Amino acid sequence: MLNVDEAQEIILAHTKLSRHVQKGILEASGFALAEEIHADRDYPPFNRATMDGYAILSSDLNDEHIKEFNVTREVFAGMPAGESIVSGNAVKIMTGAMVPDGADAIIQVEQSIQTGPHVIFDVTEIQAGKNIAQRGEDAKKNDLILSKGHVIQPYVISMLATLGINKVQVYDSPTVAILSTGDEIVPIDQPPLTHQIRDSNHYNLKSSLQNYWIVPSYYDIVRDTKAELEKAIERGLKEDILIISGGVSMGDADFVPDVLASFGVKKLFHKVKIKPGKPLWFGETETGVVFGVPGNPVSCQVVYKIFIEPYIRKVMGLGDMRRLKLPLAEGHRIKGERTVYFPCKIRNGDHLSALIPITNNGSGDVTAAIGSDGLAVHPGDLSFLEEGTQVHFYPWRLLW
Ligand code: AMP
Ligand code: MG
Repeated sequence: MLNVDEAQEIILAHTKLSRHVQKGILEASGFALAEEIHADRDYPPFNRATMDGYAILSSDLNDEHIKEFNVTREVFAGMPAGESIVSGNAVKIMTGAMVPDGADAIIQVEQSIQTGPHVIFDVTEIQAGKNIAQRGEDAKKNDLILSKGHVIQPYVISMLATLGINKVQVYDSPTVAILSTGDEIVPIDQPPLTHQIRDSNHYNLKSSLQNYWIVPSYYDIVRDTKAELEKAIERGLKEDILIISGGVSMGDADFVPDVLASFGVKKLFHKVKIKPGKPLWFGETETGVVFGVPGNPVSCQVVYKIFIEPYIRKVMGLGDMRRLKLPLAEGHRIKGERTVYFPCKIRNGDHLSALIPITNNGSGDVTAAIGSDGLAVHPGDLSFLEEGTQVHFYPWRLLW
């Protein structure tokens, strides 16, 4: 049986980078760029005043013949700089305005006294370049500003707006189909008989997929018969990702692997040394992949977080999942050799946060994740982790 790392590796090795799609920069938020972005001109595009004050020739301050400067004019932001400045003259200038040629420093208004058309300064020297952002110092025309794969977030949108770009190419979300299998499964709005269970996995998956703007294009509840499974799987295989919940364990009605095989879906693995989630099945077709997810709600949540979400991120050109490392607030024991993913709450401390495990009755416990912030990892080769042990932690909520 594969361990978690091996299974993740196989899954990530079978990603096909998604299609490009053009989006307005605001709707592109959270997607990864599928194109390079270059500077359309120098930034700053002109020598820009970074202070309100007087633009002068810095060497004039050392010139003993110059006792006071002639203020010839004013330059505001949004005005052309006008003619170049000559020795002995000063131009009053505002933050953001274009510095006239010739001037190489700005003396802050706080260090000046202007009387009529003359100004004197209470500084005796100034470095050339002082209080001026030089043309092109941030970026030169045609410089690479953003590479492919850069995730679009507010500062990127600001950058794109600066560059005059209002549409970008990004990697699109994959298309997804979800099948909830099981004779006992009923829809949310149908009163269940004693032996029936409402379909929660579909909602769990659907809400998780919303983080990636995915709305499943096909969803159905499917009985545990080969005929029904065949019909639904045939339809589901049209999507980039088919997620099938239930029916992948060793029960007599667990037909999913057989039916997938009959459609020529190539099995890449079945079962992983993980708890919960061991029966996970993964395979590929020419155009997509299939995740067969164990039906227990917690298994479904764990498998999504640890296997399906990283796959979606890679397909969309987004980086690895953010994984934290935090100490356990209490000791944690496991039985067996499978790596255990268990729901924890983060207790915020003054210096270091710590993870409090949420006690539950196992993978079938529908309340197991309530109150948790994410999943902590207990490696299968260690039966006991002491309080304070640093463990990996996957928050439910994204840290993009
Ligand atoms: P299975 O993986 O089909 O053996 O199902 C394992 C357990 O998960 C059973 O107790 C099922 O009733 C339950 N289960 C399966 N599918 C779902 C679902 N879509 N929503 C909630 N529970 C489910
Ligand atoms: Mg079942």
